[in-house]
Amino acid sequence: MHQFNAQVEELAAAILEYSLERLKSDPPLDAPKTEAELKELAGETITESGMGGIAALNLFKEVLAPACISTDHPRYLAFIPSAPSESANLFDLVVGASALYGGSWLEGAGAVYAENQALAWLASLANFPETSRGVFLQGGTIGNLSALVAARDKARKTHPEIEKWAVITTSLAHSSIYSASEIMDIELIKLEDSYKLQETINHYQSKPKHGICAVVATAGSTNLGIIDDLISIGIAANKNHIWFHVDGAYGLAGLVSEKVRPLFVGLELADSFIVDPHKWLFAPFDACALIYKNPKDGKDAHTQHATYLDTLNQDDEFNPSDYGIQLTRRARGLPFWFSVAAHGTKEYEAALDHTMDIALQAAQLIKEHPNLELLMEPKLSIVAFTRKGWELSDYENWSDTLLSDQIAFVTPSAHNGVPILRFAIVNPWTQISDIKIILDRL
Ligand SMILES: *Cc1c(COP(=O)(O)O)cnc(C)c1O
Repeated sequence: MHQFNAQVEELAAAILEYSLERLKSDPPLDAPKTEAELKELAGETITESGMGGIAALNLFKEVLAPACISTDHPRYLAFIPSAPSESANLFDLVVGASALYGGSWLEGAGAVYAENQALAWLASLANFPETSRGVFLQGGTIGNLSALVAARDKARKTHPEIEKWAVITTSLAHSSIYSASEIMDIELIKLEDSYKLQETINHYQSKPKHGICAVVATAGSTNLGIIDDLISIGIAANKNHIWFHVDGAYGLAGLVSEKVRPLFVGLELADSFIVDPHKWLFAPFDACALIYKNPKDGKDAHTQHATYLDTLNQDDEFNPSDYGIQLTRRARGLPFWFSVAAHGTKEYEAALDHTMDIALQAAQLIKEHPNLELLMEPKLSIVAFTRKGWELSDYENWSDTLLSDQIAFVTPSAHNGVPILRFAIVNPWTQISDIKIILDRL
């Protein structure tokens, strides 16, 4: 049935060889090129007769891949890097080769079972009840949006008289919360002080037909790794019967480490939370775990109905597509499941602790550095600092040169309107010697 002829065999060998080589060796940092440069180098790639698999692979190897920054390079410390374990990356090849459908139990029971095991582990670390359930979605943006849509759906059903809904969040909120409120066409209220939550709820809900459908807290801000006061926010949300969502796309990976797990007390008060295994849990792009305390809330909001789908909805089977904004679904949680299943949770904890240890050592080196000032002690694995006397353009020029010299990828950010540098350390291959190489250039 499969047309695995000699030509395809040759391509298979070449692709596996390339993939293994990429996984085994230290990747070059690389850098982007302009569209004009790529046009010059790669030309038109889509033709009537095709260029053949080997030629297309060579084009990727020689032209396209070097125009992509290696996000798993140990000195890629910008944004949030990617650091998939070897086993997660290798298993991603298996997921790709297996044509798995991860949307329904009927089609993907085995894959869904394994994904659910990984989700149950995360739920247990969060002190969520055993009845909680979730789904792996594309990323934190879709995860937050899916949770907030479920929150509003429930609020609407409970309070059909309300016409104007709002979400309250804190100053740590990620841009995806703003984007979700735009998509949902609801108001977003930014809380300056989490102790003002009750007052803010009262004020908004005293207006006729106005209601708060969710309160969102951040567990590990993307810029600095700061955690909201989950206890006081959670208590106030629960008392007012308002959905409490915790965005931990980056930071909630910290649940795996006994050392920092206490920072997340209060998470158990949430109705839903997210964490991205593609950030600090050693899984490849792209996967966000969204977990609901009461799974029915997710299902009521997200199940799609159509004559051709109704056969999926007749039994009580667990269909991942019912829990987020998606229908067709890659079993995108499987590389993460495989990695945890293979390594065990202890090794996960050790890898996380190692990244936090490097962050602390980096902070110490920054404090000792004559030209640098540490912004704050790292809470998780993000280290933020400033260079004395530098303006934004100095930071930008330094960052550009660092990349063009193929040393590292570190980009400027800002805090309270002041430009800063930050290292996001999620890669267990990042060593203190890597940090020193960068600090020497400051
Ligand atoms: C990264 C991040 C997101 C967005 O996640 P994506 O996977 O990039 O869509 C949301 N919230 C926080 C706190 C994040 O760090």
